[in-house]
Amino acid sequence: MSETLENLLRETRQFEPPAELAAAANVTAAAYEEATADRLAFWEQQARRLDWAREWEQVLDWSNPPFAKWFVGGQLNVAYNCVDRHVAAGRGDKVAIHWEGEPGDTRTITYADLQRLVAQAANALTDLGVVAGDRVAIYLPMIPEAAVAMLACARIGATHSVVFGGFSVDALSNRIQDASAKVVITADGGYRRGKPSALKPTVDEAVAISPSVEHVLVVRRTGQDVAWGSKDLWWHETVETASPEHEAQPFDAEQPLFILYTSGTTAKPKGILHTTGGYLTQTSYTHHAVFDLKPETDVYWCTADIGWVTGHSYIVYGPLSNGATQVMYEGTPDTPHKGRFWEIVDKYKVTILYTAPTLIRTMMKWGEDIPAGYDLSSLRILGSVGEPINPEAWMWYRKHVGRDRCPIVDTWWQTETGAIMISPLPGVTATKPGSAMTPLPGISADVVDDQANPVPNGGGGYLVLREPWPSMLRTIWGDDQRFIDTYWSRFDSMYFAGDGAKKDTDGHLWLLGRVDDVMLVSGHNISTTEVESALVSHPSVAEAAVVGATDPTTGQAIVAFAIPRGTVETDGEAGEALIQELRNHVAKTLGPIAKPRQIMLVPELPKTRSGKIMRRLLRDVAENRSLGDVTTLQDSAVMDLISGGMKSGK
Ligand code: ATP
Ligand code: MG
Repeated sequence: MSETLENLLRETRQFEPPAELAAAANVTAAAYEEATADRLAFWEQQARRLDWAREWEQVLDWSNPPFAKWFVGGQLNVAYNCVDRHVAAGRGDKVAIHWEGEPGDTRTITYADLQRLVAQAANALTDLGVVAGDRVAIYLPMIPEAAVAMLACARIGATHSVVFGGFSVDALSNRIQDASAKVVITADGGYRRGKPSALKPTVDEAVAISPSVEHVLVVRRTGQDVAWGSKDLWWHETVETASPEHEAQPFDAEQPLFILYTSGTTAKPKGILHTTGGYLTQTSYTHHAVFDLKPETDVYWCTADIGWVTGHSYIVYGPLSNGATQVMYEGTPDTPHKGRFWEIVDKYKVTILYTAPTLIRTMMKWGEDIPAGYDLSSLRILGSVGEPINPEAWMWYRKHVGRDRCPIVDTWWQTETGAIMISPLPGVTATKPGSAMTPLPGISADVVDDQANPVPNGGGGYLVLREPWPSMLRTIWGDDQRFIDTYWSRFDSMYFAGDGAKKDTDGHLWLLGRVDDVMLVSGHNISTTEVESALVSHPSVAEAAVVGATDPTTGQAIVAFAIPRGTVETDGEAGEALIQELRNHVAKTLGPIAKPRQIMLVPELPKTRSGKIMRRLLRDVAENRSLGDVTTLQDSAVMDLISGGMKSGK
């Protein structure tokens, strides 16, 4: 990695924070100084943003690394902090969730409503025998009950394990069994691309092979027919009839809050365990700082699914702990039309939008005319998460969504980190397209070489975290050794994130994707991200994926898959000419060493359910192998399209 090509990403554009925003920002540059002066005192101060039933005795116990304990001896109730305290402060009538169903049905849920719903669900779970420490699996569409179920578990000290509603029987039953979940909360189905899509049959099959499950609670969402077994209970007959009075008990700061299995882009999913005090401290603080949330006036919308960590930290725990008003949307961005997202922004006057590069690139493919048709003037801050954002996608987001007014916060973090770690602060940082910029106050991230030495400015290497942070994972559920091996063994006393990164000449951080995705071409390390960004910087390309395929002369050769923008001609000679032009464009942008051996123009790319490109499958195509494990692939038809190949130039 130290040999990362020089001259890559000669990005010189820079955007100052809007003066008005900076003048009223929640967090200023002083936060960096405070955190540098005394990191633990800084986090202690952020913990005080929450209501604690009992104050901690020690901020951090790091006597047995890598097993951290934060706010030792402290006690709090997470659900009380996310719901009840806002009602107690007289904000019960404030809208917590503007929910928008895919078919267009809506629900408005105030903090007082949420308090009642969560109390009822907590009582119902208690009646079903769930006690503190028990695990509850949640397999739901994007409906308010998903947030209610999570908060009800938190309220009674149970540990939730949310499984994305698109996962298969195998994925669901593996997760239920790994955590020995006692209860599963699900729905008859949800709406997806204009149609009801069933969930209950998958649960029935998974529960049949998961002996730990005692009860299945079923929300009625679509009204479709469901098979009914002896463990099944309707949510509306159980939860909605329960008492709305529930006294929240405080729990220890290290009480487990949830297990979330990472998406499995690379290997067997890992059950990442998060606890309460430190997790809520950092999700709450980062949501306040990075999105500059003003609870009285902002309308916040995070487009993630609740099945991903982004949905946990930035739909449920961060925003609700801060008393935000937010939008929650059930469906897909192109149902019933490709302007649905912008229609929602306009309808609810969304001020803060947090989405993923995959969506931005899809919107680029559809064309800027679509967002141009809506009033997006309410927006004031834009966020990105999930993958490196290509500079041209960043510029498109800034121009066509933010209308050149809104700062973009590119937030780097992982399921394992629990909360945002590296990001601009919208009122402080002058941003650069494609860079996550700097570690947040209280976070010590660095880039090191093979020998664990920090790389100088201008160098590239491995992203590491040098100090424990409050929302860090505590272990891999049931597998402490895998926790140590995966994250703490590559380098001494540092957390190994598994991502490549570089420091530019100003010391700002650029994420380069997974270390596994780096290519070695004729002795040079080249990151897939940089070649992809070079391709996306060509006006004819909306999205690109790059892999290294074994090559007899160069070791690995660069093979690229590119999706043309909507109006681009790709038939016959026009396609061949475009391919040559793109190869030359990459060579010109990054240097001749980065010129792809082969470019294929394709209509789609294989993605995980969370929208990340699955380069592993593309490597199989590039090397003419049969496809590997496709269980986490979003749409299996995509691989047929690609293997069939629209056009492939050598
Ligand atoms: P798995 O670990 O199971 O393969 P995953 O890593 O995709 O799945 P997540 O924890 O959701 O699961 O994603 C974290 C990863 O996403 C990071 O390690 C990084 O590779 C990528 N990522 C997230 N945000 C950014 C960002 N702003 N810039 C660059 N990469 C990002
Ligand atoms: Mg990961």
